[in-house]
Amino acid sequence: MESKNSLESRLRAAGRRMTPQRKLILSILDQTGDHLDAEEVYRRAKQQNSNLNIATVYRTLSILKDMELIEQRYFARDHNVEYYESVNKGEHYHFTCLGCRKIIEVETPKIVQVQKEFSALTGAKFTHACVCFEGYCANCVNDEENLTL
Ligand SMILES: [Zn+2]
Ligand SMILES: [Zn+2]
Repeated sequence: MESKNSLESRLRAAGRRMTPQRKLILSILDQTGDHLDAEEVYRRAKQQNSNLNIATVYRTLSILKDMELIEQRYFARDHNVEYYESVNKGEHYHFTCLGCRKIIEVETPKIVQVQKEFSALTGAKFTHACVCFEGYCANCVNDEENLTL
């Protein structure tokens, strides 16, 4: 069975707007479970199409984002690097380890609950939530305790 969000159905919906370059970059993000910045997308795309340049990758990422085929994320509060991931994964949020910079995905129905309560209370509706969590992963949390002792 094909999910509504499968790569094939999203490509079909995009139709002629789906150029080979866009398809390549989308498939790179779909295949990795990871969050890639533009440089890493470029590095991987270049292995399959050596004609690509970084400017094209930046432009393509921006177009795919507008087409709602990929998500752009920030992981650190200073928002200095944009990361991209497939929209194929369900709604989730991100935890960044301040020790090793590892990203852990946080799945929770609570944000949707907040959304519903907020709507019921105010009549307003939020369409996007930007929530980032920071702290120390299981490996780094002990180091952090050692530092503060
Ligand atoms: Zn860590
Ligand atoms: Zn993610």
